[in-house]
Amino acid sequence: MRNNQDFICLYCGEPHRLETLLEYPLPEDISEITSGKSAKSMQVIGKHAFLINEEYLLMKCVLRINIIDLQDELDVQTWLWIERNEFSSKFKNCEEGEAIVCAGKLVYPIPFYGMSDYPVVKVDLNAEEHLPVGMIVVSGPEFYRDWQEGISSGKLIELLSYLNHL
Ligand SMILES: [Zn+2]
Repeated sequence: MRNNQDFICLYCGEPHRLETLLEYPLPEDISEITSGKSAKSMQVIGKHAFLINEEYLLMKCVLRINIIDLQDELDVQTWLWIERNEFSSKFKNCEEGEAIVCAGKLVYPIPFYGMSDYPVVKVDLNAEEHLPVGMIVVSGPEFYRDWQEGISSGKLIELLSYLNHL
């Protein structure tokens, strides 16, 4: 996160805050359960994953996109939806501390990249980091390329300008 830095917006010409952390909100399933609006069950699994109704996992992770000319990175903190079949057998057969790599779909789209489908991302359910780092498996080509190769600060400004006027 860069503090107190602004950029000039490409849409309105006004200064907006230069953010390098984009954080998606809690998925509705979780907020409805915690507020009592939904009768579904929820079990906390590890540090960042929630088993909903014993049917699927919702897991927080971060997608990191390097910003080539700022020596910084754009952290997209988002949520994955992982089917029960994808993780249950892996959980049973895993030794303590071993990586449990599962694939799931993002709960939220990445609007700037105009994708019609939600990217598929892999994470290690046992990751010890502050937030498990997601590895993109399938996504639109532009997003995949930026995730692999990084973006310029110019592209970051394009992206933030767009997000400020959604
Ligand atoms: Zn603006």
